[in-house]
Amino acid sequence: MKIFRVHVLWIVLVFMSLDVVSAQRLLLTNATIVDPADRTEKKGSIVIEGNTIQSVEEMVIEEFDGDVIDVEGKWIIPGLYDMHVHSYGNMGPNRSIGEFLMTPMVSRRMLYSGVTGFLDLFSVEDFIFTLRDTQRKDGMEGADIYAAGPILTATGGHGTEYGIPTRVVNNPEEVEKEIGELIAKKPDVIKLVYDNVPGRMPTVNLETMKAVVQESNKHDIPVVVHIGTWQDIRDVVEAGAHAVTHTPEEPLPDDIIPLMLEKGAAIIPTLCVQTEFLNLIQDSTLLESPLLTEMTSADLLKSYKDTSAFAPGFKRWLKAQERSREDLLNTIRALGEAGVPILVGTDAGNVGTFQGYSVHREMQLMVEAGLSPWNALESATTRAGAFLGLSAGVSEGSVANLVVLNQSPLDDIGHTQDIHMVVYRGKVVDRPSMLSVGGGE
Ligand SMILES: [Zn+2]
Repeated sequence: MKIFRVHVLWIVLVFMSLDVVSAQRLLLTNATIVDPADRTEKKGSIVIEGNTIQSVEEMVIEEFDGDVIDVEGKWIIPGLYDMHVHSYGNMGPNRSIGEFLMTPMVSRRMLYSGVTGFLDLFSVEDFIFTLRDTQRKDGMEGADIYAAGPILTATGGHGTEYGIPTRVVNNPEEVEKEIGELIAKKPDVIKLVYDNVPGRMPTVNLETMKAVVQESNKHDIPVVVHIGTWQDIRDVVEAGAHAVTHTPEEPLPDDIIPLMLEKGAAIIPTLCVQTEFLNLIQDSTLLESPLLTEMTSADLLKSYKDTSAFAPGFKRWLKAQERSREDLLNTIRALGEAGVPILVGTDAGNVGTFQGYSVHREMQLMVEAGLSPWNALESATTRAGAFLGLSAGVSEGSVANLVVLNQSPLDDIGHTQDIHMVVYRGKVVDRPSMLSVGGGE
């Protein structure tokens, strides 16, 4: 019996020491480190232990116990986020051509493109939460999944038209019941539709909207509200919503900036879903981006050039984008310049967007609108991560999600597409395997 105990102790000690040795260490050295949080660019090295950035050093590290990768002449930014995704796949303007990928494959494409986390804002709730929980528990190759689950919406409201189950709320009693059930599944955010654009589908009334915001705040879960009009934004921001998503098409009224600043409300503008379809039609060279063509089926990209085969609804949508694009860009410039927090979200899954790739375009559109590359980078990295309660960044203690670029994203934000390497939770991603069907898991 005594001998047995000694053996057990010995085995425990061996495993403990193995554990210490196996905490993987990685040094990325000689990089230019771009930190969107404090808007600095400096030469240095990043020391990673396990899945965390242990330190950022400006001096040369002579000796290192672990893997060393020299990234001389490269730029390092934090991993990107897409804060508005429907992670089933990609839809084109011709309804018979699309990519039905499902969330695991979408999350691999995301990682390929440097997007290390994304927020799914409407999926079948049990499917997406189970997948997310499995990923958190056992790991799953691909970007980190964050999810709202269902959309809270009115009877017959936006979200009910897709034939997948969602949660309907028409009064405060229903809100309490539905959110009560939903909370048990630990949604990362609560998604609500409050959209009073005339002629659109029915939407929840003011009282119900307020109850959703109140109930979510009570449980300390951020609310993201799909809005349509500036009055919608006034209502939900006054009520205490954390973020609105989409940008109203009319010019920005004067009272919105002070209100959003006072309440600390963020906007996820979704410039991609609201303008990029038109951009792709007017400038077909956008369809030839190397990053996009590597990731997306040639048939789907080609379908954007065959305008005669577009579904009728999409032709109308192009007209709407023509009317509103300039106002949208002006609005985003004004909001961003005034310091309203912007979070990059693309509404990927809709026409004009591509899972993963569109994050890069959303940043480019922000810069085209007149904002700085710094604001675009912050919106897609540190600020987005913070909204989800994560330590995203390139400083000590941040989760080691990084994108190494061949060219400076500050010279041209389009350079975020020129990816040398992606690091996810402290490990270099085998990017080609992220595009293979099925992959390693
Ligand atoms: Zn959406």
